[in-house]
Amino acid sequence: MNRVAKAAAAALCSLALIAPVVQPSPAAGLTRVEQFSSTSSDAAHNAWWQGFNLLPPQVRGAIPRELRPADPAPQPAPPPAPEAPQGHPEPTPDTCDNCVAITFDDGPVGDTDRLLDMLKEKDAKATFFVVGSNAKANPKIMQRMRDEGHTIANHTYNHPRLPKLSDGAIGKQLDDTNAAIAETTGVTPRWMRPPYGMYDNRVVAASGDRGLAVALWDVDTSDWKHRDTAKTCKLAVEGAKPGSVILMHDIHRPTVDAVPCVIDGLREKGLRPVSMDRLISNPAAGTVYTRR
Ligand SMILES: [Zn+2]
Repeated sequence: MNRVAKAAAAALCSLALIAPVVQPSPAAGLTRVEQFSSTSSDAAHNAWWQGFNLLPPQVRGAIPRELRPADPAPQPAPPPAPEAPQGHPEPTPDTCDNCVAITFDDGPVGDTDRLLDMLKEKDAKATFFVVGSNAKANPKIMQRMRDEGHTIANHTYNHPRLPKLSDGAIGKQLDDTNAAIAETTGVTPRWMRPPYGMYDNRVVAASGDRGLAVALWDVDTSDWKHRDTAKTCKLAVEGAKPGSVILMHDIHRPTVDAVPCVIDGLREKGLRPVSMDRLISNPAAGTVYTRR
C-alpha cells in the first residue's frame, strides 16, 4: 500500500467512527466500511459521504472506486401541501358492493303509505316508479317518499304500451309524469321504466332527451300474476345477486305484505337493499339498465 492509499484507509477508518453502527476491526476495516455502505441507515451513510468529500482530492482519488461511498440517499419528496377545502368533499368511489335495488311500480296508492312505514321500520330505501296520474292524486305520499330518501322515478302518465304510441305521445307521457312528480315533490327524475318493460329505440331516445335513463330489472317476482306473499319473497330473495334490480308492484297488497320478508332475506344473504340512486349513482340518460 503506498503512502496515499494508507492515508486514505486511515481517513476512512476515522470517518467510519462517525457512524455508530460501524466498528471497523483493524483486520477488516475496509470490508466493514463496504458493508456499511449497504447496511447502514441513510443518516449515517450521508454523514460518511459528507466526510469523504472533505478529504483532499488526491486522497479521495486513491481510494478504490468500490470503496467510495455511494451518492447520498435521495431525500424523499416532501408530501404535497394539502389542498385548501373547496366546499365539496372529494367524490368517494362508488362502492355499493352487495347492493340491490328494490323497486315498486304503478303507485302510489293508499297502501303505499303502509309500505313506507315498513321501509322506515327496516331502515331500507327503495325506488318508486310512479304513474303520473297516481302521483297527482297522492301528493302527500309522494312527499313522504321524497322526505324519507327513496328514489322517485317515471312510469308514464297512464301506463300505456309505449311502442304503440306516436313519438309525440311518448314524449307527452314522459313530460306529464315528470311534471306531476315535480309539482308534488320538486324532484326531477333521472329514471323511467316503460310499462310492461316494452320499449323501442324511440322510447329510449325520448327518455334520453329528457335526461332519463331506462331502468328494467333482472329479478322478476311476477307478483302481479300470483299475488302470493311467500312466493314474492322467495323469488325476490333467491333471484337477487349483488347489483340486482328487483321488480315488484306496490298496488298489490300481498306484495306489500312481503316487503319485511324480502328485506330480511336479502340482508341474511349479505345483500343491502338500496334505492336506484344509490345502486347506480350516475345513470347515463338514454341508456337501458337491467342491473348495476
Ligand atoms: Zn307498470
